[in-house]
Amino acid sequence: MVVELISVGTELLLGNTVNTNAAYLSEKCALLGLSLYYQTVVGDNEDRLSGALKTALDRSDVVILTGGLGPTQDDLTKETAAKVLGKKLLEDAHTRKRIEEYFAGLKVKTIPENNWKQALVPEGAIVADNQNGTAPGLIMEENGKSVILLPGPPGELKPMFEKDIFPYLNRLRPEIIYSVMVKICGMGESAVESEIQDLIREQSNPTIATYAKVGEVHLRVTAKAADEKEAKKLVKPVVKELQKRFGNHIYTTDEHVTLEQAVIQMLRERELTLTTAESLTGGMVASRFTDVPGASEVFRQGLVTYSNRAKRKLLEVKKSTLKDYGAVSEKTAKEMAKNGAFITGADVCISLTGIAGPATEEDKPVGLVYMACSYNNKITVQEFHFSGDRAKIRETSVVMALTLLRECILEEA
Ligand code: ATP
Repeated sequence: MVVELISVGTELLLGNTVNTNAAYLSEKCALLGLSLYYQTVVGDNEDRLSGALKTALDRSDVVILTGGLGPTQDDLTKETAAKVLGKKLLEDAHTRKRIEEYFAGLKVKTIPENNWKQALVPEGAIVADNQNGTAPGLIMEENGKSVILLPGPPGELKPMFEKDIFPYLNRLRPEIIYSVMVKICGMGESAVESEIQDLIREQSNPTIATYAKVGEVHLRVTAKAADEKEAKKLVKPVVKELQKRFGNHIYTTDEHVTLEQAVIQMLRERELTLTTAESLTGGMVASRFTDVPGASEVFRQGLVTYSNRAKRKLLEVKKSTLKDYGAVSEKTAKEMAKNGAFITGADVCISLTGIAGPATEEDKPVGLVYMACSYNNKITVQEFHFSGDRAKIRETSVVMALTLLRECILEEA
């Protein structure tokens, strides 16, 4: 089944709005195993939109349009789609009531006249309620094809897609789809890809899709089959092969498990407690851990030692170390980790010190980061040279700290 996206909005063409809806919908279609061959962006212009929709209907089974469902004059997606499909617009009592309720919830007494336009629905269309706005989603079916209209604001589109459109598309598919997400840390995207070049070259069913994340690479293995049992049977040997190739770099094959959850689980299984000693990340690593429900079982303390004074006072980093090697040094990172574990009585301590920029410090380059992990009387230290802006350097540091921590625990196991 071929799906096509049309994103409507002049602001998308001008670059004022980034087309995140297209990225979101493409990912969902891939997850559903639908073939998405074309994407178009078109401004708020009836002729060009009508042309784009006619072209899409000629070559695709499902056309998803986003944006232009608002109450104003330049919102013309619904009117144009109805015209192309030869449908009249009729007032939908259910949608009218929902618009009334929406405004009542906002304590607005007089509903703007324009908004009633949103209660008009192409005849025969399926209405998807908007939980977060006034424009309903609409599904029109004609000659075995479907045209789906969704509101532009992502906060309205996404919940509507999850609740009504995803199940609708799932029902349209002739076969079922099953996928497993293999999550890898401690390896870059190109290293991962070169390791599986042969698998990617030969893939047909199941397929392997690569998603590069900050400090992680995710591989989605997806199979299509007549039933779930058959699809699972197709996916299993491929996941097994990936496990053989990537070994401990795989931290989970569960879509919903994050790296911090996996690390917490490892600590929990080994009954270990953890302390973080952070400089450049200012508590971001601790925050990732405490995002995980039940982290208190293992997470002892998060120390943010941004200044040299704090490093000395809270972590007892030697004055001579800071003077001779600097705060951003292997030696400081080591002392932070070693003393952090000792002072707080934790089994494991991970420390980070580095230069997030934009200014250089201690005559050292932006992006230089040292991390150390103290565990079992052993201190492992790593030096990194990250690129990017301040936010990227800090974000990458957090993921690499989680990865280092995981590696140290696995090594001792
Ligand atoms: P509204 O009722 O708010 O007018 P609408 O369905 O008419 O909704 P648009 O007017 O086209 O949608 O867009 C409203 C806002 O939604 C945009 O200003 C933008 O912030 C966001 N938006 C629209 N299209 C996209 C897109 N493709 N990707 C990300 N955001 C988008």
